[in-house]
Amino acid sequence: MDARKILATHIPKEGIEDNIDWKFTSSCNYSAKTGYWYLNKGTPIDQLEKQFWKSIWNSDIFLEWKHFLWKIAVKAIPTASNLTKRQIKMDEKCKFCKLELEDETHLFKNCEFTQRIWTSTMGIKISNVTDTPVKDWIRNFLNLFRKKKQEEFVELRRNFIATLWSIWLHRNEIVFKGGSPNPMSIMEIYRDSKEKHIQATKQWDFAKSRVHKTTM
Ligand SMILES: [Zn+2]
Repeated sequence: MDARKILATHIPKEGIEDNIDWKFTSSCNYSAKTGYWYLNKGTPIDQLEKQFWKSIWNSDIFLEWKHFLWKIAVKAIPTASNLTKRQIKMDEKCKFCKLELEDETHLFKNCEFTQRIWTSTMGIKISNVTDTPVKDWIRNFLNLFRKKKQEEFVELRRNFIATLWSIWLHRNEIVFKGGSPNPMSIMEIYRDSKEKHIQATKQWDFAKSRVHKTTM
C-alpha cells in the first residue's frame, strides 16, 4: 500500500532520469543549454533506450506483453490514428470518451476514462494532460519501479503492464463486439491477466529450479 501512496503523488510528466541525476552541469541541475546538447548529441538517450529495451526483452514478463510494449513504442499498435495513416478508413475518435483522436498517448494515458483506470489499478493520478508521449511515460515508470526492492519492482511492473494490456483488450472488445466502455470489464481483465502472469512466473521459476537441480 505504501507504493500506492508514493505513486499517487507522482506525476511522471518529466523524464525521471533528468530529475534523478543531471550530470552535464556542475550543479547537477538541468539547464536548457545542456538539455539541447544532451538531446542533440543523441548517444546517452539512445543508450538509455537500448538499456531499457534490453531489460524488457531479457525479463520474464509474457512474450506477448513484450511485443505489446514494443508495438506501443514504435506506433505499430492498430489504434485509429495509426490505421488512418495507413489509409485504412475508420472512426478516428477514442472508443472510450468519443471526443479525442485515438492515438496511443491519448488511449493509454490522456483519456479521462483511462486515467480513472490508472488510479484504480496503481494509484497513479494523471492530473495534467502533458505532451509526454506514452512510450516515454511508460519507460519512465518502468525505470522508476526498478529502483524498488526486487519483489516490489516485479509486482509494480506486472501491475503496470497488466493495466496497459487490459485497457487495450477492453478497447478491442468495444471495437469488435460493440458495447460501451465499462471500468468493471477492464478491472476484470486486469485481475485475470495479472493472475495468469503470477501463475506463469511461478511455473517458470519452478522449471528453472528443476533444471538447476538436475545440472548440479
Ligand atoms: Zn478518450
